[in-house]
Amino acid sequence: MAGNAKVALLGTGIMGAAMARNLIEAGTEVRAWNRSREKAQPLASDGAAVFEDPVEAASGADFLLTMLSDADVIEGVVGNGVLPALADGAVWLQMSTVGERGNENLARLAAENDVAYVDAPVLGTKAPAEQGQLVVLASGPEDARRKSEPVFDAVGSKTVWLGEAGEGSRLKLVVNNWIVGLLGVLAETISFARATGVDPQKFLETIEGGPLGLPYAQMKGAMMVAEDFPTSFSAKLARKDAGLVLDAARDRALDMALASAVAARFDEAIEAGHGEEDMAAIYQAAKPRQQ
Ligand code: NAP
Repeated sequence: MAGNAKVALLGTGIMGAAMARNLIEAGTEVRAWNRSREKAQPLASDGAAVFEDPVEAASGADFLLTMLSDADVIEGVVGNGVLPALADGAVWLQMSTVGERGNENLARLAAENDVAYVDAPVLGTKAPAEQGQLVVLASGPEDARRKSEPVFDAVGSKTVWLGEAGEGSRLKLVVNNWIVGLLGVLAETISFARATGVDPQKFLETIEGGPLGLPYAQMKGAMMVAEDFPTSFSAKLARKDAGLVLDAARDRALDMALASAVAARFDEAIEAGHGEEDMAAIYQAAKPRQQ
């Protein structure tokens, strides 16, 4: 149980809103803020206090939980008086995906304000977030770990503790490269099936249940076959994550040709207006031009 802790939750998008509901269910006092208030407002009927201003939301909170799109946005929001407004001894749980450099900048901001910082990106998408089944990849100081666990237990089914802040973000990048690469090759495989006159549904049925038939491929593949992309994780944010992987690789002079190709495919889909659709809309950039 997250008990009577007060959690200031900034960012009530797809993930943040679901996490807020699970925190409330666990008995936590949730103080929510979102740039577009209409996305935070429905949480009031679940029991959250909804604020106009992030500093007001943070006022006296024991935890700051950020679930915003990227590091620049977080720095812009949190760097404007949010950290000094927290209760003494508060912990910042940074759960958005921000990559390596983003994490370093945010950890520095926390240190400058003398706030304990836990780098805690998550695995899992909209449905696992709604069901409280996220996997939290947490890293940070030992005393913050003890305090944070009840909050993580309310939003996730498992917390993997990884050492110093930054380790969580690095593991998240590795997992994301796997996910984004899978999406790229899946889109191209479905396109290739169509171009060669193979029913893509037959391809999905053929691999289903065996070692090649990832449930993830079934889920995202079905969207590609139907060309219908209700958003669990937007193409725009998946492109951001591909960029974070490429940044970390570039810092180590590692050539990641496949990740670069998938990032370019995402760019094409986004330019064609599919950025807010699910990441499976990468298919729009891979599909056959002529049938
Ligand atoms: P989302 O639904 O698009 O929500 C993004 C949030 O960021 C919203 O609260 C949005 O506010 C806010 N935001 C964007 N630009 C802003 C700005 N300039 N100033 C202030 N606020 C701004 O995204 P999400 O899917 O919940 O993802 C949130 C984070 O979790 C991201 O880092 C993402 O990579 C990560 N993540 C997502 C998933 C997933 O499957 N969805 C899984 C794991 C990790 P508005 O509502 O006003 O636009």
